[in-house]
Amino acid sequence: EAALSALPQTGEREVETALRPRKLADFVGQPRVREQLSLVLESARRRGVPPDHVLLSGPPGLGKTSMAMIIAAELDASIRITSGPALERAGDLAAMLSNLAEGDVLFIDEIHRIARPAEEMLYLAMEDFRVDVVVGKGPGATSIPLEIAPFTLVGATTRSGALTGPLRDRFGFTGQMEFYSPEELEQVVQRSADLLGISVDPHGRAEIARRSRGTPRIANRLLRRVRDYAEVRADGTGTLEVVRAALEVYDVDELGLDRLDRAVLAALVRSFGGGPVGVSTLAVAVGEEPSTVEEVCEPYLVRAGMLARTPRGRVATAAAWEHLGLQAPAEVAG
Ligand code: ADP
Repeated sequence: EAALSALPQTGEREVETALRPRKLADFVGQPRVREQLSLVLESARRRGVPPDHVLLSGPPGLGKTSMAMIIAAELDASIRITSGPALERAGDLAAMLSNLAEGDVLFIDEIHRIARPAEEMLYLAMEDFRVDVVVGKGPGATSIPLEIAPFTLVGATTRSGALTGPLRDRFGFTGQMEFYSPEELEQVVQRSADLLGISVDPHGRAEIARRSRGTPRIANRLLRRVRDYAEVRADGTGTLEVVRAALEVYDVDELGLDRLDRAVLAALVRSFGGGPVGVSTLAVAVGEEPSTVEEVCEPYLVRAGMLARTPRGRVATAAAWEHLGLQAPAEVAG
């Protein structure tokens, strides 16, 4: 891993790959999921069988893909990677499945977006390691059963509630990924700074961690923007002062909320009097997809105590009014 510091100029994607923890022991945070998973993996290893299918659920950037790769590495298995939206036709999935070797891990990101025919094919594959391939059309069509090698499916989703019951039931274990604490994010920042050869002092590190919306991917991204600022406008070190100045440039506020987070809160408070308002209406007001508002923005706003999801719609809390520098109405403040 030390060799990675020789590659600071690579693109964003490569950097993200380079920063992925490789072993369960390198994975910071998520103590519950780590413990649960290590039991599932160890027990399968002792029995000499592929482990149960695993579903990882939680907001973007919390380490679901990294964890899937770690599962494969811990099993000494190869991993094949695809995503729900890429599996539009059942044939796409059949091709993927029939190429698996025994014990392989198949990772399907955004599995809640898989098309129905592919999903139905997956049921049989997960349960019996078999697929039925339909050949021909109309009355002459026949279905040919095809054996596939025993494999482990790892699915990732930002919306486990959007999974159909039958699909959810076929996973033996669901790991619910939580937002990271500032202390955990400090460790993530430290590790990434070491790998990339970036210098940040402890106060700078703590500030980046505090403003990363509980999300390692964001912590790594902010670290790189701090590095840019430190190199161009300062002496190369991410001090508290440098971090604050850099994050100001990139519109990340004291709580780590970005432009879109603030737009959502501002629309909720200014255009809808604090709510309740439906998520689609709110999304139109900020010019975003409802799924982006719901899966990317809201989880952290809820966790930060700014927004509440109620049966009648989204509601701004007193903290949200205050954060925008506004006086909350008496019934909210009450
Ligand atoms: P997801 O699949 O949930 O969107 P990823 O696994 O792609 O998230 O993680 C995004 C980035 O965040 C990775 O490149 C990795 O560098 C970093 N990361 C995520 N979780 C951790 C962790 N627990 N420890 C260290 N780095 C992490």
